[in-house]
Amino acid sequence: MEKKKETMPPGRQVVMSGIRPTGFLHLGNYFGAIQNYVKMQDDFECYFMVADLHSLTTHPDTKELKQNVLRVLAENIACGLDPEKAAFYCQSHVHETAELYLYLNMMAYKGELEKTTTFKDKVRQHPQNVNAGLLTYPVLQAADIVIHRAKYVPVGKDQEQHLEMARTFANRFNHRYGEVLPEPTAFNYNRQLIKVPSLDGTGKMSKSENPNATIYLADEDDVIRKKVMKTKTDAGPTQQNSVKPDYIDNIFGLMKLVSVNDVVAKFEDDYNACTIRYGDMKKQLAEDMVNFIAPIRNKVNDILNNEKYLKEVMEKGAAKANASANATMKLVRQAMGLNYY
Ligand code: AMP
Repeated sequence: MEKKKETMPPGRQVVMSGIRPTGFLHLGNYFGAIQNYVKMQDDFECYFMVADLHSLTTHPDTKELKQNVLRVLAENIACGLDPEKAAFYCQSHVHETAELYLYLNMMAYKGELEKTTTFKDKVRQHPQNVNAGLLTYPVLQAADIVIHRAKYVPVGKDQEQHLEMARTFANRFNHRYGEVLPEPTAFNYNRQLIKVPSLDGTGKMSKSENPNATIYLADEDDVIRKKVMKTKTDAGPTQQNSVKPDYIDNIFGLMKLVSVNDVVAKFEDDYNACTIRYGDMKKQLAEDMVNFIAPIRNKVNDILNNEKYLKEVMEKGAAKANASANATMKLVRQAMGLNYY
């Protein structure tokens, strides 16, 4: 019998998460995911990956994939992710994930996969490319997570259902073959998972949809100002302490992410007193977003100029991630009775 390999110091919980290289990262990725990666890397055994295989479900053309992968690596590092502390790797460099995906696919039922909200959304968006990879997306995601026996998964609110499915698949595996895979849970330090809305409040900020209502970490200062100034407002409240319309509440929500408390409180007071000037509020919001994003954007450009460094990050990350994946897969095969010699 193979000896169980220890992959983490006792007592350190395992964390895993990933981001697809399907475009420029934005404030939603930062506040929904990366901010927590950076906080968690000191206290947890972290595995963070660029989900290049997941991106193939909707972006099969690989001409720009390498550049997009490098950009996602650079953007995460510019936000504070430290590849010395966390294993920061590319999904396609951990081949055993494909094996675990295969086993978990036999524990995932067609009906439940078809009911997944993200699958239904993708079918609507890409009716000409409803491939099996898209249907089994949550299974691959579950494999990515449980291959490290991860307990916590820092993600935004849009991933809640996928995490529930990952728990279901892990549980089915454990019931069928024995306790090997811990149940992963979605994680945010502020407890509630968050969704960063688009500037127009009609959906969420996203890499590939609604670019004019999404603030990207790569946006130039003037682009940020223009997008924010276009945000819908109205003539202002006419009754003191009135309930905010959704689109105004949205602007306050975005301000809470990038502005200091006193600034938010000032505009809350102005709103409640019916003295608010939305033009001033949007200018302030735009400047606070510029101040937040400009240093990250500049760092990204520096990091992208150093492809050798990014290659080393990927290699080092892949080595750590593969060590962890190997250890889990030995246990998985053993539990399934696939170890014939
Ligand atoms: P994706 O961009 O779909 O690859 O997602 C990468 C990570 O960012 C996941 O943890 C998502 O939940 C998170 N994320 C993406 N968009 C948003 C958003 N608008 N608000 C909060 N989190 C988000």
